[in-house]
Amino acid sequence: MFCRNCGNDIDPKAFVCVKCGVRTGVGSKYCANCGTEKDPGSSVCPRCGFVGVVPPAANPLQKSRIAAGLMGILIGSLGVHNFYLGYTGKGIAQLLLTLLSCGFLYPISYVWGLIEGIMILTNNINEDALGVPLRE
Ligand SMILES: [Zn+2]
Ligand SMILES: [Zn+2]
Repeated sequence: MFCRNCGNDIDPKAFVCVKCGVRTGVGSKYCANCGTEKDPGSSVCPRCGFVGVVPPAANPLQKSRIAAGLMGILIGSLGVHNFYLGYTGKGIAQLLLTLLSCGFLYPISYVWGLIEGIMILTNNINEDALGVPLRE
């Protein structure tokens, strides 16, 4: 697989290009299949005929970074942001910590959620439980 932004040959499993730092699948200057420089306005490669995939913004499975981050900061003690991102185990742990202690351990789950919310917003958490990159 090739970086669509700079044409660098990259690992198909990589999320970002090691050369230019742009997320894989983003960019339209090079063919992802053969690495040929192509017309950015066209999604079809003139050399191999490869049709570029739909831009990530159109992927309905991508979770919103802002939404997840705010959930963590505002109601993170209930684990809502983790449920949203698919980290069900962590979400349940936070929820139970708050509920089973009758609020006694609420500060712990609150700070936990707050930190994760901030980590999401500051790009320290970049993907959901399925490994799908978060939508900016
Ligand atoms: Zn690149
Ligand atoms: Zn091509």
